[in-house]
Amino acid sequence: MAIERIVDTSDHEDDEIEQIIEISLRPGTFDEYIGQDRLKKNLKLAIEAAKMRGEPLDHILLNGPPGLGKTTMATVIANEMGKSIRVTSGPAIEKAGDLASILTNLQDGDILFIDEIHRLGRTVEEVLYSAMEDYKLDIMIGKGPAARSVRLDLPKFTVIGATTRAGALAAPLRDRFGHIYRLEFYETDEISRIIMRAANILGSKIDEASAASLSTRARLTPRIANRLLKRVRDYADVNGDGIIDAVITKKALELLEIDELGLDPGDRNLLTHMIDNYGSEPVGLNTLAALTGDEATTIEDFYEPYLLQIGFIERTPRGRRATLKAYKHIGKIPKEPTA
Ligand code: ADP
Repeated sequence: MAIERIVDTSDHEDDEIEQIIEISLRPGTFDEYIGQDRLKKNLKLAIEAAKMRGEPLDHILLNGPPGLGKTTMATVIANEMGKSIRVTSGPAIEKAGDLASILTNLQDGDILFIDEIHRLGRTVEEVLYSAMEDYKLDIMIGKGPAARSVRLDLPKFTVIGATTRAGALAAPLRDRFGHIYRLEFYETDEISRIIMRAANILGSKIDEASAASLSTRARLTPRIANRLLKRVRDYADVNGDGIIDAVITKKALELLEIDELGLDPGDRNLLTHMIDNYGSEPVGLNTLAALTGDEATTIEDFYEPYLLQIGFIERTPRGRRATLKAYKHIGKIPKEPTA
């Protein structure tokens, strides 16, 4: 059984109460959405222009690691446009017919948010990009020799696609997006502000120093920041008077086995395997997956982006390699000179 990782960036809050909390923490406007200033500036301009012309927004592709706020940004855009949003995902749209029923139920200006858009099937993808191009839907009616193609008019909708891998998107689909943006990891002071905001919504008392110490361990990712805050809040409620201070924060983090850079036992295991078996030589993704027992996609989507961001691993044409920084952090000594 997989061990639940607190630093997991995937969105699997199964518990109903957790889901309600999750929704309450989600910023609804540009003002509430902390950080990603360049993205916000571009989007504000696009929204203002679309409103002035009375046109729908051009299609938008948001690219970046999980938990950085892509879904949240899509809801902010819908709110700022004053339009409805329909949320779905690549794997959820199995057949062209599923997509057709979603599209025909939209209104002019509505937002269709497609998470993990790189996981759409080929036939669905083809229907989607022609619909995005000219707001028309070609569907086949009947079977065999009697089959004929019918062209339906669609409302003027906007697709907001989210992906962790823009490179995996078919070129014709990528070309249909008028805006393509990459979400960056957050600065620690932005993560601190996100934690203070979330604590305020949850009615928890936390001082700025504790928020700052949590912020360095949240892997520069809002989803993890919120999750850490909730676990520390649990600890404060059970072992203290509910107030999150320096002592409570330190003890809770020790219990969670998250170090001062936000690495958990899973990351340390990955780095230790890389160093012990390959030193500073590159190792392929599938070999790494076999060594650690993780799925290759888990390593690629969840561990790796942050480890690359903090310079603990490097990508080379022959695979990933651990850097000197990783050696130091894990407490290992390189055998030969390394990067
Ligand atoms: P993604 O779609 O990129 O995986 P989400 O939009 O689901 O990420 O964000 C995860 C959670 O992090 C959200 O529920 C929200 O509470 C929080 N969050 C994301 N971005 C921000 C932000 N810029 N400011 C405050 N909270 C944020």
